[in-house]
Amino acid sequence: MIPLYDAHAHLADLRIREQLPHILKVAQDNGVRGIVANAAQAQDWEPILNLGSHPLIITAIGIHPFYVEQWNPQREVELEELLKQHPGATVGEIGLDAWKGRDGLEKQVECMQEQLAIARKYNRIVSIHNRKTWADFFAILKQLGITQLNGICHNFTGSNEIAKTLLDLGLYLSFCGPITSPNAHRIHKAAKFAPLDRILTETDCPDLIPRQVQDRNLSQPQDVIHVVNALAEIKNLASTTVAEHVELNWNRLFNA
Ligand SMILES: [Zn+2]
Repeated sequence: MIPLYDAHAHLADLRIREQLPHILKVAQDNGVRGIVANAAQAQDWEPILNLGSHPLIITAIGIHPFYVEQWNPQREVELEELLKQHPGATVGEIGLDAWKGRDGLEKQVECMQEQLAIARKYNRIVSIHNRKTWADFFAILKQLGITQLNGICHNFTGSNEIAKTLLDLGLYLSFCGPITSPNAHRIHKAAKFAPLDRILTETDCPDLIPRQVQDRNLSQPQDVIHVVNALAEIKNLASTTVAEHVELNWNRLFNA
């Protein structure tokens, strides 16, 4: 069985929370050996951290740019406290999103900047979300004096130029369900460009359903096989070769 890794899944999402034991069993039965369980909002933190004892799961807590109104000084203290209590926890998902325009971006920048600073303070891996905001993201890093960053760029869809800057920072590029679309030319170009020793795979479960399982309305961690297969096709390699590299990358990143 091909070893599979889902570098970005929302396992505390209310749409799947009740079926989670079953979902994790199916994932394991299908070869999934690791999942990063990301929080989107504060209410996810506790259920995510409770999953930390599961052998497959690496936890990530943080505030997603869509929920920046939840970010305040009290929340900041809470995040620090929880990271202190959970040495295995990482920080995510954090980032910037200008998909619906740049209104409110200032608050997103503040929220991300402070979470990045906390991740650095406690030496934690970060899971990063960026949509139409790469220049803003690079400006934040410059302002914080960050030239090296240990983490994952989730659902990477950017240009090769952006990819190069991210690789220089030390980040991993994670590919997701949209890569399975025949029309996703920009993602295919990025996947071709991304070096094998810096790629990861993910589902963004329960969203971003790969084309092959579109009939389901929610994605699950084992669907990451379709991302592995797409990467293999684009890179003209066997799926097992891609999977082996993802496994090596996962182990390097998480010191597993
Ligand atoms: Zn996500």
